[in-house]
Amino acid sequence: MMELPGVLGFSGAAAVCGSASVLAYGVRAPQSSLLAPSVYRGVDTRAAIALTFDDGPSESTPKLLELLDSYRVAATFFQCGANVRRLPDVARQVAAAGHEIGNHTDTHPMLHFKSPEFIHGELAAAQRTIEEVTGTKPKFFRAPFGVRWFGLREAQRALDLMGVMWTTIALDWKWPAERVVPRLMNGAGNGAIFCLHDGRRLEERPDIGATLEAVRELLPKLMERGFRFEKVTDILCPTKN
Ligand SMILES: [Zn+2]
Repeated sequence: MMELPGVLGFSGAAAVCGSASVLAYGVRAPQSSLLAPSVYRGVDTRAAIALTFDDGPSESTPKLLELLDSYRVAATFFQCGANVRRLPDVARQVAAAGHEIGNHTDTHPMLHFKSPEFIHGELAAAQRTIEEVTGTKPKFFRAPFGVRWFGLREAQRALDLMGVMWTTIALDWKWPAERVVPRLMNGAGNGAIFCLHDGRRLEERPDIGATLEAVRELLPKLMERGFRFEKVTDILCPTKN
């Protein structure tokens, strides 16, 4: 007889492989650290939210930077190495504006079924590029499509990266701002981490109009509700006021 608590209590990769549902949870669930260590929310003692933007830099990122600057809001950008090499000035602009830069792999592959060497290579190449171009060394990693796999734990350890998932993903790549805004307003809470996008994988000149419109509406609404915005580093830190 199969007992569910027993399944969840198993340890070791063999047991994890043995249960498709546990593996699916480990690969996809924002709360899971089964395949690699990650956090998905910040401390709940402050009325603060972390805005994170994936897949940049893109040609449209400067517009977002202007918007964030007009509200004096700092965010975290999970950049792809290939995009940083394509648009080094934009990547530097993000860093110079005081935002945090995280690692989102080099070429935005789906990591499942990839070898540990491939996974390490993707993270290492992005880390190298971001550090060379922007002068900042990422401390955080976001998995493309939120997909984790065997070997990621070791790659993160070797590069000193902590995984960061989210409390709410905006679906801003497929939804208009009218749907994104209420979704994120619902997800607002102390320590929330929102996942949005200032790029589309490695696409050139992506249309991020929905993201810009949503952020433009959200910032004043959330500020009115008493929230402020923190970088991932700060929202995870329990000692900050
Ligand atoms: Zn992505």
